[in-house]
Amino acid sequence: MSVTPGIGMTSQRTRARMVERLREQGIKDPAVLAVMGSIQRHVFLEEALQSRAYEDTPLPIGHGQTISSPLTVARSCELVYHGEPLERVLEIGGGCGYQAAVLSRLAKQVISLERIAKLVRQARLNLQQLRVTNVMMKVADGSHGYDKGAPYDAIVVAAAMPEIPRDLPRQLKTGGRLVAPVGNGSEQRLVMIEATADGFREQTMEAVKFVPLLSGVS
Ligand code: SAH
Repeated sequence: MSVTPGIGMTSQRTRARMVERLREQGIKDPAVLAVMGSIQRHVFLEEALQSRAYEDTPLPIGHGQTISSPLTVARSCELVYHGEPLERVLEIGGGCGYQAAVLSRLAKQVISLERIAKLVRQARLNLQQLRVTNVMMKVADGSHGYDKGAPYDAIVVAAAMPEIPRDLPRQLKTGGRLVAPVGNGSEQRLVMIEATADGFREQTMEAVKFVPLLSGVS
């Protein structure tokens, strides 16, 4: 089968099948499903892996890191998206830029922090290729968010935190939501925090598996 971008294993039809599987796996939001069907995940992978881009699995992107699985990305987007375009979103752990591209279609502006400079360079090229212009990728340790861009409608954390630092939910607008994998090693759960007028409401959800959040830049 051909692996030339746009046909065969990287075609629109292959993405449509991926969206079907996401639906079967419980993703319901029509906007999130539409965006998942429109973003070319293979663009974020090296050529040798492009034919596997629409499998439901994380894949290596170099530097010991992975691109999140389509289900992981869809699930966290669905949890923070409430049916209307988000104003400003912060992503912590941008990697190769895939989730930032998905978020770019659900939000007016996305700030994405990534601690590995070489990945940021690659992510910027990937986003350029998809003509995404509303994502700012920054080389930074995002362990404590990015106060300068606050307040956010949503904060999406893509690396596992041992616990959510107190200063992170404070960067949300009222009504805004934060989603983060919390725990270490094999014991991680997705946690959602909503900023309400009377304080923060926290919910612990399904078990997940993310790479660990590390400190400092490299
Ligand atoms: N959102 C990415 C997932 C990348 S995996 C996607 O769309 O596929 C998680 C990323 O978090 C890795 O690239 C890792 O380098 C990064 N990371 C880990 N600790 C970090 C920190 N403290 N600040 C910013 N990025 C971090």
